[in-house]
Amino acid sequence: MTDSTDTKKHYEFKAEVKQLLNILVHSLYTNREIFLRELISNASDALDKLRFESNRGTEIEQSDLPHEIRITFDEKKKILEITDTGVGMTEEDVVTNIGTIAKSGSAEFIKQITDNKADANNIIGKFGVGFYSVFMVAEKVELTTKSYKKGSPALKWVSDGLGSYDIEEVGGEPKRGTTVKIYLKEDAQEFAEKYKIESTIKKHSNFISSPILVDKEQVNTVSAIWREPKSSVKKEQYSEFYKFLTYDSDEPLEIVHKSVDAPIQFNCLLFIPKKNMDIFGFNKDDYGLDLYVRRVLIQHKNKDLLPEYLSFVKGVVDSEDLPLNISRETLQENLIFTKIANSVTSQLLNSLDKLSKDDKEKYVEFWKEHGKTFKMGYGDFTNQEKYLELIRFNSSYSSDEKGLTSFADYLERMKEGQKEIYYLFGASRAAVAMDPHVEIFKRKGIEILYLYDPADEFIMSSITKYKDHDLKSVDQADLDKVDKLEDVESKEDKAEKLSKDDKLQFKSLLSKMKDYLGENVTEVKISNRLQDSPACLVNTDNTMSSSMQKIMNIMNKDASIPKKIMEVNEDHVLIRNMLRVFKANSNDTFIKDATEQLYESALLLEGYLADPHKLVGRLNSMLAESSDWYTKVNNID
Ligand code: ADP
Ligand code: MG
Repeated sequence: MTDSTDTKKHYEFKAEVKQLLNILVHSLYTNREIFLRELISNASDALDKLRFESNRGTEIEQSDLPHEIRITFDEKKKILEITDTGVGMTEEDVVTNIGTIAKSGSAEFIKQITDNKADANNIIGKFGVGFYSVFMVAEKVELTTKSYKKGSPALKWVSDGLGSYDIEEVGGEPKRGTTVKIYLKEDAQEFAEKYKIESTIKKHSNFISSPILVDKEQVNTVSAIWREPKSSVKKEQYSEFYKFLTYDSDEPLEIVHKSVDAPIQFNCLLFIPKKNMDIFGFNKDDYGLDLYVRRVLIQHKNKDLLPEYLSFVKGVVDSEDLPLNISRETLQENLIFTKIANSVTSQLLNSLDKLSKDDKEKYVEFWKEHGKTFKMGYGDFTNQEKYLELIRFNSSYSSDEKGLTSFADYLERMKEGQKEIYYLFGASRAAVAMDPHVEIFKRKGIEILYLYDPADEFIMSSITKYKDHDLKSVDQADLDKVDKLEDVESKEDKAEKLSKDDKLQFKSLLSKMKDYLGENVTEVKISNRLQDSPACLVNTDNTMSSSMQKIMNIMNKDASIPKKIMEVNEDHVLIRNMLRVFKANSNDTFIKDATEQLYESALLLEGYLADPHKLVGRLNSMLAESSDWYTKVNNID
């Protein structure tokens, strides 16, 4: 029995497919035309795969068929058909590829819509939502396909996109490849009109490398522009190609088009998008450059042509020297490929360097969008010199948190006699600017790079040096060196010098303070870094900055408070008053309270105070007492 009803199999769509279909069919009203882009892109992929198989010598069904995409339409019957002579599909292929969501793009699309409640209409163009987008315009779809594998039967897949599909074998003498026959919905009939079809192809599929024929005429005309000399490519062509490649509706921020001859010959056309496309964090794996060999696409989104920290770059690389039949698996071990990849990376870094010099504003734009990704390149030792020129920080030199400074800028402004580059990590600009550790740097007019991103801490501790200058966290700085530099601000209202006797008393006060703090600190000593604050904590171990230490503690799940030195400012009013009290009665409880308060306040600033209850309690009783005095002194009743 060969009756077709006997071979017909009925399948239900997987849940995620139903979900996608539901969104596509019910919430999208604009941008529906991208269904054609998706079907043509599948047809083109199928042709690329076929070419690839044939290049590596696989036996191909009907190998003399021309490689093309054909589009036919019937305006009266409201039918549109897209036919390709690509690899086609076996029954197993159809069930796994069309019955589930193979593509990460579609899954991401659903996630973005459901998680972020994003407006589907606005973002659909940015995603390759895949085959199912056809149901935005289709009442019913019949997909007929025959695999390139010898002896595979032709199959027909039919669905109305509601919940299930049928597959059956078809007889006759079908051609290799796939035809998608679309019965258009009432409100989508325009897609059976020649003008609409052609203009949609020109808009979204102009750069498809296989010919797209509508009424036997080729509609896509644009050649591989990356192979043409830069001078002959118009700005609009670049922009059109960029949009085709990325689905971005914006113009690219920067275009890098190079023809490289030595040591290896290749062309590359690279784009830096205006916006970081990974704002939601799902496009993590969706990066890479398209690799061509002599105009033939070898691999979409190859991830080894550029290091991950340049993953925001989109574009194509076309090689003269790689063999056409190279397998994707062995690419990475291919010496020519490695050389190309290294050269592409350095071309891009050079272009960024040029941009940073020629167009500072644009570079700032670049940094704001892509800096977070780019700076993770601190481990690329081969290109470290270039990398160091390209990273940016906010610094005390700028008047707000938006200003950006390079290491080179910093060097130019360095104080006479200054050797090291100083930085400080903090939660915000306000926090770092008020950190007691910076007081001496302010007084000396030494610039400090402000780091707000925990990743910056790793970057600093891993690069350690710019040119001959060590990078130092301000809390690790050698203060003797800093102190030798000239003051720019005088120590205002400098307190009177302590008498010899007071100095001795001060020593005893410090050791009393140490007694009160016990094992919490290693030492209490006079500070030469403080100007406005009465006290601060400093590391005993100079190998790690406080913030790095904190990161390590979190990583090691270590909740203990590191032991530090407490430094006190001998000129501060509070400390002087403590000395007066101490001289009158060395056991006055005020000394103990004030010492503990100073310690806990410093801990709080360092981010280590886990329980603020004691501090707040003490603070409140001190405030209560001082309010009594205040009312008395001011004769308030
Ligand atoms: P993607 O193209 O991103 O993988 P799609 O939803 O567009 O996602 O397509 C799903 C899969 O269906 C493809 O990966 C491919 O295996 C298969 N497919 C779709 N259209 C064709 C076609 N014209 N020829 C061969 N296979 C196809
Ligand atoms: Mg697709």
